[in-house]
Amino acid sequence: MSDLSYANLRCHYQTGRSYVISGEGRNRVYGYRTGVQCNLGDIEQKEWCQMVRDLIQREDEQKLYQQLLQHLKDHNYAKESIKELEFKALQLHASRIFDNEAWVDFLKFNRKYRPEIASSARLVWIVPECCKSPGEVTQTMLDSHKHIDNRACCPHCGRWVRFKFYTTTEMEERTNECE
Ligand SMILES: [Zn+2]
Repeated sequence: MSDLSYANLRCHYQTGRSYVISGEGRNRVYGYRTGVQCNLGDIEQKEWCQMVRDLIQREDEQKLYQQLLQHLKDHNYAKESIKELEFKALQLHASRIFDNEAWVDFLKFNRKYRPEIASSARLVWIVPECCKSPGEVTQTMLDSHKHIDNRACCPHCGRWVRFKFYTTTEMEERTNECE
């Protein structure tokens, strides 16, 4: 129980392997085991899920988990089943995704469920190439992708696109237009 921590349960990758249930030669019956590779080893998926659930309960984070699950349900574009979404939510929860300012949904999620966390992040105004309307992203998200290709996740449509920084002058001009 003392080994039960989010760092130890964080999923590195998923595993799968066949095993023999019974029989010999041509009569062999195979089963398939799926697992999660984490710091504690390759743990059978069901067991791993239960361990994360136990930890969430111990840390009194059931509400946060439910919010994360709801967020996935609200953005379930791949039409995954509830079971798949729950597994995904447990993986994301174990990796503390909601605290990661580089997460593309960091602002969307936290503005809805944890405004105090959202307001503590350093934000940058950008104008994405796609939607062309200014919007906010976290500085951390920009930094974490800078070395790859200088793109950002559009705050409006979620596409990875090139962008311009929204300058103070442009911001003032826009404010004046509105008046
Ligand atoms: Zn866009």
